[in-house]
Amino acid sequence: MGLTDITDRVARACAEAGRDPSEVTLVAVSKVQPLDRVEAVLEQGHRVFGENKVQEAAGKWPDFRARFDGIKLHLVGPLQSNKTRQAMELFDAIHSVDRPKIANTIARIAQEIGHCPDLFVQVNTGEEDQKAGVLPDQADAFIAECRDLDLPVRGLMCIPPVDETPSLHFALLAKVAARNGLAGLSMGMSADFEEAIALGATHVRVGSAIFGERDYG
Ligand SMILES: *Cc1c(COP(=O)(O)O)cnc(C)c1O
Repeated sequence: MGLTDITDRVARACAEAGRDPSEVTLVAVSKVQPLDRVEAVLEQGHRVFGENKVQEAAGKWPDFRARFDGIKLHLVGPLQSNKTRQAMELFDAIHSVDRPKIANTIARIAQEIGHCPDLFVQVNTGEEDQKAGVLPDQADAFIAECRDLDLPVRGLMCIPPVDETPSLHFALLAKVAARNGLAGLSMGMSADFEEAIALGATHVRVGSAIFGERDYG
């Protein structure tokens, strides 16, 4: 547990996979965590963080950004269209682009504000009803649609079903990315980031293994 333990494990997983550690970005998912735990990780020099709610992120990150240089924020949770503008102003990357309405809204706001975060298309690899993401057999068409809108799609993201072998989902995501010429793969969390790195992850989203368990109470 802790940042150095996880960065060591990321480096080891890269070595085992014959990959350069610079290819893998560790996104420290700080949602729900007490601010002192987040600050401790900033003090250790880490700068890339993930949040899953726009509102929660807007409440804590402007202060941290005023105190620490070079912070990069990734939105890893679902995006509602009425929060799109705020998300685009706050986040450097959005991992949850998954429907035409959001793609169109992002494209329109990008024109207005003159910049756009890096985008990942979320794929619902397990085809779960309750989960966000485009279905695998609709991914190619949706990625093409995003490209027609000139959106900066960098890669794909998935959250495997809790009760299935994550590697199968990571492999499927990698396959969809490869056939669409996308380099980015946002996959792997605390329990499975090493397997994700073995299958090509470029962004691992690790929360509790860095900060400790989340207390939702
Ligand atoms: C919370 C969250 C994570 C981090 O989960 P851990 O199991 O704590 O590592 C990663 N990705 C998404 C989309 C999340 O919501």
